[in-house]
Amino acid sequence: MARLVMKFGGVSVADGKRLRHVGEMAKQFRDEGNEVVIITSALQGVTDQLLECARKAAKEGNTADVEDFIKRLTERHNQTAADAIKDPKILKEVQEGTANKLNDLEKAYVGICYLGEITPRSLDYISGYGEQLAAPILSGAIRDLGIESKDYTGGDAGIITTSDYGDARPLEKTYELIPERLMPLKGIPVITGFIAKDEKGVTTTLGRGGSDFSASIIGAAIGADEIWFWKETQGVLTTDPKIVPEAKTIPAISYKEAMELSFFGAKVLHPRAIEPAIKREIPVRVKCTFDITSAGTQIVHSDVPKKDVIKAVTLAKNVALLNISGAEMIGAPGVAARAFTAMARTGVNIIMISQSSSEANISVVVDARHLEKAEAALVTEFPHDQVKEITHDNGISVVAVVGSGMAGTPGVAARVFKAMGGANINVMMISQAASEHNISFVVRSKDAERAVQELHREFGLYGVL
Ligand code: ASP
Ligand code: MG
Repeated sequence: MARLVMKFGGVSVADGKRLRHVGEMAKQFRDEGNEVVIITSALQGVTDQLLECARKAAKEGNTADVEDFIKRLTERHNQTAADAIKDPKILKEVQEGTANKLNDLEKAYVGICYLGEITPRSLDYISGYGEQLAAPILSGAIRDLGIESKDYTGGDAGIITTSDYGDARPLEKTYELIPERLMPLKGIPVITGFIAKDEKGVTTTLGRGGSDFSASIIGAAIGADEIWFWKETQGVLTTDPKIVPEAKTIPAISYKEAMELSFFGAKVLHPRAIEPAIKREIPVRVKCTFDITSAGTQIVHSDVPKKDVIKAVTLAKNVALLNISGAEMIGAPGVAARAFTAMARTGVNIIMISQSSSEANISVVVDARHLEKAEAALVTEFPHDQVKEITHDNGISVVAVVGSGMAGTPGVAARVFKAMGGANINVMMISQAASEHNISFVVRSKDAERAVQELHREFGLYGVL
C-alpha cells in the first residue's frame, strides 16, 4: 500500500491504445491497494508540432496553414479518444472539450499570424496545449474503466511559478497549495505535466521535457512514497545497448550517479527534474512501459555500494575539443577566468575541463554545435597577449565511467587506462573531479565505441549487478 505518483510521456502516450494501457496499469496498481496520481505529457510529438506551427505563423502569417494544422490536431486527438474510451457519453464529453480547447488555440495562432511575432509568454501559452489536450483523454479512459478521475492543469493542481516563460521555477508556496488542492485523493487524478501558472495566473512552462519536473514537484508536495517515471527503456542501463547489446538495467543508483550519467548522454532523467524528490528523500524509479512487472532502476538519495565500483559507461559523441596554450600563461592569474567568462557570455556549453599543472595549456570539451562561437569568443578575448595558440579538434568523443564506489578506491583509473592501452586506444585528455564519481576522457571518435565495449567488459557490467 503506497502512495504512487506516476509520470507518462513519449511513446507511453503516443496514441489511444497506449493511453488505454496507461489507464489499465493505473487501475491495476490502485486495485492492489495503492493511491495513484498520474502526470502526463502531450501525445508523442505534439509539443514540437505546436512550437513549429507558432514559428511558421509568425514568419509566414498564413492562416490557412493554421487551419490545416488545427484540423490535423483535432483528428489525432479525436481518434486517440475514440481508441481509449468506449463509453459514448464520456467520449462525447472529452471530444467536446478537445474542440473547445482547439478553438481557443486557433485564435492564438491567428493572432500570431497577424502580429508576425511570438513572445516567450505566448510560446508558453501555445506549447502547453499538448498536455491540456492529452490529460482529459487519459482521465476519460480511467473513468471508462470505472474509476473516478478528474483532469487538472499543473496550475490548477497548485504549481505556481516564477514568470520566467519557457523555464519557470516553482515558488515555495506550491508545496502547500498542491496538497490543499489534491488531498485527500479522489480516484486517480490526472495532471498535465510541463505547464504551470505564475502568480498572475498566466500559463508558464517548466522547460522542454518538464513533465518529469512536474511529477517530482507533485510527488514531493503530497508526500508520495515513490515517484515512477515510465519510459520506453528498461530503466537506466549500464551503457547504450546500441554499442553493447548485453547492456543491463542498473537496479539502484544514487542521485549523484544519476546526475553524472545524464551529463554524458544517458539522458533518462534530467537531474534537475528529480531534485524536489531527492531533497525530500522520496525514492524515484524509472520503469519500462512495455514491461510493467520489471523493477526498473531505483534512484535514491544516498550511495548504493556495488562490489565492482563502476556502474555505467557512457559516451558523448557530439563534442569538440578546444585547446588554449602559450608559455606566457604559466603563473599568470586570470587566464582561465577570462576564457570561461568569454565562452559563457556567448552561451557555450562546456562539458569537460582540464589544465595540466605546467599551466601552459587549458583544454576544454564543448558541445560540437558551440565550437565555432567558442573559438571566436576566445580569439576575441585573447588577441595577442598571454595566449599564443587556440586550436580545435572535432573528431573526438568523451567516454566516462561512473560509480560513486570509486571514491577512495585506489586502482580504478589504472584499470580504465590499462584497458585503453591494451586495446591500443589513445587517450587525449583526462578529467576527474574531486568528488570521484566519474572519470572522463577524450578519445578519437573512431575508437570511441570500442573504448566503451572494453570498459563494459573490464568492469564486469554484463554480470550480476
Ligand atoms: N511536452 C513537453 C515537451 O515535449 C514536456 C514533456 O514531454 O516532458 O517538452
Ligand atoms: Mg513531450
